[in-house]
Amino acid sequence: MVRPKNAIVRVYSFGNGATDGSAAMKNLLGSKGANLAEMSNLGIPVPPGFTITTETCLEYNQLGKDKVVSLLMAEVKLAIATVEKRMGTTFGSDENPCLLSVRSGSRISMPGMMDTILNLGMNDNSVEGLIAKTGNPRFAWDTYRRFVQMFAGVVLNVGATSKEDQNPFEEIIERYKKNKGVDLDVELDAVDLKQMVFDFKAVCEVQTGAPFPENPWDQLWASITAVFDSWMNPRAIYYRGMHQIPEEWGTAVNVQAMVFGNMGGTSGSGVAFTRDASTGENIFNGEYLINAQGEDVVSGVRTPQQITLTGSKKWATLAGVSEENRKIKYPSLEELLPNTFKELNTTQALLERHYNDMQDLEFTIQEGKFWMLQTRNGKRTAAAMVKIAVELLSAGLIDEKRALLMQEPSKIEELLHPVFDNEAIKVAEVLAKGLPASPGAATGQIVFFADEAHKYSDTILVRIETSPEDLEGMNIAKGILTARGGMTSHAAVVARGMGKCCVSGAEKINISYKNRTITIGSQILNEGDWISLNGTTGEVYKGKIKNKEAELSADFDTIMNLADKYRTMRVRANAETPRECQNALKFGAEGIGLCRTEHMFFEGERLIRIREMILSTDEIGRREALNKLLPIHKNDLKDVLRAMKNLPVTIRLLDPPLHEFIPHDIINQKEMALEMHVSLETIIQKVESLKEFNPMLGHRGCRLGITYPEITEMQARAIIEAALELKTEGITTYPEIMIPLIGTVKELKLQKQLVKNIIEKVFAEKANSVQYLVGTMIEIPRACLIANEIAKEADFFSFGTNDLTQMGFGYSRDDAGKFLPIYIEKGILKSDPFQVLDQEGIGQLIEMATIKGRSYDPTLKIGICGEHGGDPSSVEFCHQIGMDYVSCSPFRIPIARLAAAQAALKQRLPNQVENLYSCIEKEISAPI
Ligand code: PEP
Ligand code: MG
Repeated sequence: MVRPKNAIVRVYSFGNGATDGSAAMKNLLGSKGANLAEMSNLGIPVPPGFTITTETCLEYNQLGKDKVVSLLMAEVKLAIATVEKRMGTTFGSDENPCLLSVRSGSRISMPGMMDTILNLGMNDNSVEGLIAKTGNPRFAWDTYRRFVQMFAGVVLNVGATSKEDQNPFEEIIERYKKNKGVDLDVELDAVDLKQMVFDFKAVCEVQTGAPFPENPWDQLWASITAVFDSWMNPRAIYYRGMHQIPEEWGTAVNVQAMVFGNMGGTSGSGVAFTRDASTGENIFNGEYLINAQGEDVVSGVRTPQQITLTGSKKWATLAGVSEENRKIKYPSLEELLPNTFKELNTTQALLERHYNDMQDLEFTIQEGKFWMLQTRNGKRTAAAMVKIAVELLSAGLIDEKRALLMQEPSKIEELLHPVFDNEAIKVAEVLAKGLPASPGAATGQIVFFADEAHKYSDTILVRIETSPEDLEGMNIAKGILTARGGMTSHAAVVARGMGKCCVSGAEKINISYKNRTITIGSQILNEGDWISLNGTTGEVYKGKIKNKEAELSADFDTIMNLADKYRTMRVRANAETPRECQNALKFGAEGIGLCRTEHMFFEGERLIRIREMILSTDEIGRREALNKLLPIHKNDLKDVLRAMKNLPVTIRLLDPPLHEFIPHDIINQKEMALEMHVSLETIIQKVESLKEFNPMLGHRGCRLGITYPEITEMQARAIIEAALELKTEGITTYPEIMIPLIGTVKELKLQKQLVKNIIEKVFAEKANSVQYLVGTMIEIPRACLIANEIAKEADFFSFGTNDLTQMGFGYSRDDAGKFLPIYIEKGILKSDPFQVLDQEGIGQLIEMATIKGRSYDPTLKIGICGEHGGDPSSVEFCHQIGMDYVSCSPFRIPIARLAAAQAALKQRLPNQVENLYSCIEKEISAPI
């Protein structure tokens, strides 16, 4: 396209001729637009169209609709003229109409979260033109009714009026099928469809109070602006929050000439994956429908057919369909249209090789002519993510760095979670079988509506089919079961992305939303009944089934070893039991970064002794109780230190406010009174005396050790005696004693002196010694400001980012749930700062404390032990500011190892990663 010099370019053309863009322009054109341009550069048949840039979306949000439409007018008109020329049709013509699709497309694909409008340009005149041109009235009316339905839903917001009600358009279609006595919409003829268009338009007029728009240009601008609007719809905002996609990225809008899969027996639409998205196996697979548009394949309105013959046979076995029936009713594309299949097969191989990653493809066949509509890096399960990278690496197609950057660290956790216990599964009753849409095991109580997914603590969301509105509920539920839909249905794709167990298309289950029941043959299950899903086999079981540990594959080890090769930051675990330590070691922990000793006091005799200490009225009484606790505490610490032999173990002294050890309800208070041989009044009085307005800002952390030095003394003795005793067993330990909640240097000085005095005493008593460190948590903003002074007294710093976030923001850790979701929804915060480190604010405090601490001691050991230690973008930040280690819960260790490796790679390849690995969609996380 010829443009004036220095003009801002907002529109880029592609397809069937000169193309303005390429895959490298993902940030500007979105993933879909950039890949359409790239395919057209590769000579792959792509219907012509144009992309309106993501930057225009930002302008739209700032300047508003009218201004942006006027800015776009000239370029869009020019681009439409190019499409018309390349297609030989005219937009808005009654005789030879050019129909368009309008789709969203951000930098990272957000499947189903934003809006799409197909068949745009249809009206009462163009439908006649289309009939005259194609000689196919059924096709023309079908296209028209699809347009009205989609435009009405997306642009005019016409739909169901309550959640229990059916969508009015679906209801009309059902009525037509019933009247005609047919099962499928393809069995409706032109007369039915024509009448349906009028019925649809009537529904629109009733709901909107205005006639359905007939002018194609009005339709086009309304659709373009609706797509821009959909960037800010609640489900897109929620999805962005989940995947940490910045609002500033915006969405592009792709306007493209329609090609039609619904033109009869030699037309169709399909979705395919170059490899198996569930297992990662190198098997080309996918689904298609004859005489259908793409939406039909993914929405589950008809059972989709398999593309390959092998896939088709496998599907038939799973679905219980005989070979004869399969051949007649559900033949593969390979059998039905062998030449088109060949073209598709060549294209998929070309695209996978070009992008060097598994591709997710959309195609349409219009009267035998093959068109590609989309290619993108396919969403995949964690198992597939690992396997694909390892296979591409061993085939020499990618290098180690790329194999690592292809991993989405937070996804890897899926591989570590339990699967069904083999024995339990043998005796479980299979209720139904569906498609194994997303692997894993899930057990929960049935709910039917996404907004009720939190009704029980473990739920299975059961839907006829899911839609993007269900996203939040799908995220909350333990698993998802749908009656309709294939492997590429919304439920399947979204669940795989989330790593959530999902069984889709379990056709034998009959769902009644009204009665809140599932009927399977003669069995009726109600809301609240327990069921279990095996997302790997597609089985649906009755009742609750026991889980067992997952087994890690050799491919997983390969990726983890690579991560260890490239990362420079160490990874430790937050753990306090031998079992947690074993898990931590299994997942690659290089030490314990936080052993919260209070977690060791919450049961059995330990709790009794702590309570005895709390109930004591003087120091003598407290010391007596602590003396009884000492040997037990020492043994517990020995177990942890033994499990972590030769590795550092950071043991934090008692931190929580003491009221946490005493029951607050009368029944348990009575029980405690009996157990402790004191009156109920004594307990109640103690509870009263421990009451604080803001316990998190109250008598806790080092303040306990300052006011009751005997607690610190007992813990220091227990730690060091444990280490000495293990030494005599020949076990080397590296205890690191950590003083919590330091706000002044004097607090640390006093506590450290106390600890050191006791340790020296124990060394003298035992005539033996061990190595140890005394350091502190940095979790109060004041500590960050005076970190250079604190460093003089500390052997190490460990950032307690939970408290630092709490005190830095002034948000209570325990109450922020009341307003944080609204803050995120309103865009005040990008994500929950207790999960994803707020680098802009809290990050500055951390960076400052690191610089100040190291200004005194350049070798000062620094780590993080708040929840953020297992969050990928926070781990990257920790790497950037030069921390020595991150510490997180055992199951998140592989995430942290991968994130640390990616952070190191990104730093080593400064500002090139995005270009070098431009085809990688998700791995390069946004700076927050
Ligand atoms: C923290 O504050 O980040 C921390 C790790 O300690 P806790 O969560 O136990 O307060
Ligand atoms: Mg803390």
